[in-house]
Formats: sequence, structure tokens, C-alpha cells
Amino acid sequence: MRTLPELARQLVDADFGAVTVLTLEGRVTHMLYAGLTEAEAALIGSPPQGVGLLGKLGDNNAPLLLDNIANHPDSAGFPPNHPDMQALIGVKVTSGSGGGANLYVANRIGGRGFTEDDEDKILAIASYAAIALDNARLYSRERQLHAASVASERRLEAVIQGSGAGVVVKDARSGQFVQVSGEARRISGVEFTDGHGPDGHPFEALYHQVDGSPMPREEIPMNITISQGIPAGPTEVLFVRPDKSRTPVLVSAAPVFNAAGELDSAVCVFVDVTKLKELDRAKDDFLSMITHDLRGPLATIKGMAAAALGAAANSDNERLVSYLEPMDDEVDYLMELVSNLLDMTRLEAGGDMLELEECHLADIAQDSLRRMARSRDGQGRSIYMNVPPDLPPVYADPRQIGRVLDNLLSNALKYSADDISLTARTDPASGLIRTEVADYGPGIPSDQREAIFDRFARVKSPVGPIGQGRQGSGLGLAICKSIIGAHSGKIGVDVPRRGSVFWFTLPVDTGR
Ligand code: ADP
Repeated sequence: MRTLPELARQLVDADFGAVTVLTLEGRVTHMLYAGLTEAEAALIGSPPQGVGLLGKLGDNNAPLLLDNIANHPDSAGFPPNHPDMQALIGVKVTSGSGGGANLYVANRIGGRGFTEDDEDKILAIASYAAIALDNARLYSRERQLHAASVASERRLEAVIQGSGAGVVVKDARSGQFVQVSGEARRISGVEFTDGHGPDGHPFEALYHQVDGSPMPREEIPMNITISQGIPAGPTEVLFVRPDKSRTPVLVSAAPVFNAAGELDSAVCVFVDVTKLKELDRAKDDFLSMITHDLRGPLATIKGMAAAALGAAANSDNERLVSYLEPMDDEVDYLMELVSNLLDMTRLEAGGDMLELEECHLADIAQDSLRRMARSRDGQGRSIYMNVPPDLPPVYADPRQIGRVLDNLLSNALKYSADDISLTARTDPASGLIRTEVADYGPGIPSDQREAIFDRFARVKSPVGPIGQGRQGSGLGLAICKSIIGAHSGKIGVDVPRRGSVFWFTLPVDTGR
């Protein structure tokens, strides 16, 4: 661009050559001269504070071919210190990417005007210059983009390395680990060599299920994301390191798509949950210790309260009875809560609580019905039982399955006012024994069907419990879920048009 005015000047034997560089709005930002000494050019200034034809061309940027500038209607003289000029050619240096520049030559040596042939020559040189200008702009844009992409890559790297979580990025096509944070190395205990995957140890061999068994390849979140292009996890896994040490880790993976919408890579995040687990265990130990210690004194209080209530009732002391009855109720509630908490913590600790034997659901159901009939909520209520005596036996802990039935039946009594049914049958599709407790109460909102099996979960509804008992603790169904899970069965609730049907399945005793 710098040599353009001089080239143009020489091409048509002009005294002066100039290029004006313009903004999109046509404002002159730079002016380059040829045919002036540096001192003369400096006196004019670049860009000169313009008057007259500076930066102008013909209508719609048509070339300007003038014998005398002063005759042009827009001419208003020259800026200060500008040499006088007469003949002029001005053409647009066309630029495809906006903006652009104009090329001028002035004052043919010898005082003659310029010819159309001269104009063609200037147009030709201008079109070459336009290509150079476009290239220069593209190059500069490319450099800006490159700089921006380097900066964003470095920012990402800083986030990855600085975050407390382990981050691994795997290229979807090559399968190589292209980014691995220090924390990911620490959690996995595996060295990744310059992005080519772990030394000697296949990374996937680290993955184990929470119970310590190796995790199937297709269940590893990173593999789910790479094979299906969807986010996976968070999943709790156990990393068993090459040195056999173990770390509980929460793993999630997310896909990254390129501009064409194809899967580019998967980002996998590991969070070491050792500390959380320890806290959880300490909390469970504490809970189990205090609930255990509460049981003895509560049993004594219950005995005393029941005896005092009996004595007060015998002596027709109504006032005393009205004091003692709520006390007796509250102790019952506390004892149930304590026993539920204790069982919960034991079941969650994975203790070997089950005493498995061949047993019949009809017997377990009969015992549970008897307990219900004696309970406060069961007074005057009917429970229809349909458990065929010839149902195949199950291999289960009858005491624990009895607890599950007690919980489901007492909920049905508590939360509904109508009759209740208890049925059991062999499910023809799965071959499992399916037991159902159905009631016509308020039912369970379908979006809470899974959540009510969580600890301390209670249905959020404006209709409170119907039963006369006090508010529950939200532990009963969680205990049922743990017990049925420990028997390799499933538990759930169906919501028909009215009421709810709580069900659980148990495998048939195969004579193990
Ligand atoms: P609790 O009854 O002690 O609150 P559960 O874990 O047994 O605890 O039950 C959790 C919640 O599920 C209850 O609080 C109640 O909101 C809801 N629920 C359980 N069974 C029924 C039922 N048969 N009908 C309606 N809601 C029920």
C-alpha cells in the first residue's frame, strides 16, 4: 500500500501520487503521498484536515478524470501547505471486506492532462492493490482470531488446573486424553503421558462399583458420553488404584460438539468424596449410638406409663388418664422413631442383618394383619387379604419382610379412611412374587413416586395425614426400600385413579 502512490505516479508520468485510506463511512484515516519530500508531506499532515476533493471520487465511486481540479463543483481549494495541482485521476481501490482506499495521481509532468488510457492504467493498478488490501485485512483478522483462541484456551486451562475437581478431556475421534488436570492425576493415581493415556494401566480398570466389583465398560460415564453423545452421571464409583488403594469418587461426563454439531470430545469431572463419606459415616455412628442408648430408658418409661395408665383407668381417675394417655402415645412414637433410626443406620452400613430362610408370604401376612388389628390405627378397620397359601415360598428374612408389610399396612391405615387390601401373586412376566397393599386414600402425586422412598421424605400436600396418629418421621418407606433391596427385590408405588398401590417383589426360593 505504501509503494502504491509511487508506482501509480511513475506509470502515468504524474507529479504526485496519493492514497487515502477510508473508513466505512468514507472518512479519511490515513494519507500516503508520492512526489513530495518528507518535509513537504509533514507540513500537509496525514491525514490533512481536508477541504475540497479530499477522499472524493465521481458519483457512486466512479473514477474521476479532471483536466483542472479547480473546475470541479466540489472543489474548495487545497489544505494549507499543499502544492498546487491541476489535472487529476482518482479511482477506488475496491475492497471486498468493506472500507477501502482511493488512489489519486495529479499534475501530469509537462502540464498536459491525463488520457483515458492513463485512467485504465490507474484502474488496473488499483485492482491489484485491492487484492493486496483484502489479503492484509484477512491476515490481520486471522491473527486476531488466533490470539482470541489462544487466550480462551489458556483461560480454560487455568480453570481446569485451578479447580478443586479432577478434569479429564478425551478426544472423541482419537480416544486420547487431550487434557488432564493435576487433581485428576491425584484422584486416579495414574500418570497420563503427554496426552496419550495412562502409563501401562488402562484407565477404565480403575472404575469399580460402590460394592467393589469392576464396573462394566458401558456403564462408565465417559463411555456413555462418547458412545451416545449425551451427558452421563453423576455416578458414584470406587477408584481402585494400581497400588490397590481406593477412593470413592463422584463422576460425571458431558459431551462437547464442534461447530458442525459433531461430537468433538467428552469432558469428565471427578470429585473425591472421601471426606463426605467419612462425615456421613461419623454421623451414622453417632445416630446409631444415641438411638441405641435411648432404647433402654424409653422402654422403662413406656412400661411405667402403661402401668400408671392402667392404674389410673382402674381407679376411674379420668383426669390422670387424660394426662397419661398422650404421654403413652408420645412414648410409642419415640420408640418407633428410635427403632426405625436404628434399623436405618444398620441397613445403610450394609451390616449382615438378614436371617434368610425358606418362608411363606401367607404366614408373614397373617402375622402382620394380627399386629395391625391390635394397633391404634387398626381399630374398627378391615383389611382384605388375598395371599394364596399355595404361593411358592420365598427365601427371605420373615421378620424383616414382616416389617415391610407392617409399614405399608400402617401407612394405608394412617393415610386412608376406607378398606384396604393385601394381595400377593406370582408375576407371570418376571416369575417374581409380587405383593401389593392397596388403599383408597389421597394417593401419591406422581412426581413424588420415587422420592417418598428417600429418608425423611413426606408427601408435600395441603391434605395432611388422615389417620388419627401424629405426623410420621418419613423413615418407614426408606427402611422398606433398604430391606427389599437387600433381598434383591424391587419396591414402588402405582397411583390408580383413587388411592395408591404400594408393591414389592421378591425372588422365588429356588432351593439354594
Ligand atoms: P411416615 O409415614 O412415617 O411419614 P413413610 O416413609 O412411611 O413415613 O411415608 C412417607 C410419606 O409417604 C408419608 O409421610 C406420606 O406422606 C406418604 N405416604 C405413605 N404411604 C401412603 C399412603 N398409603 N397413602 C398416602 N400417602 C402415603
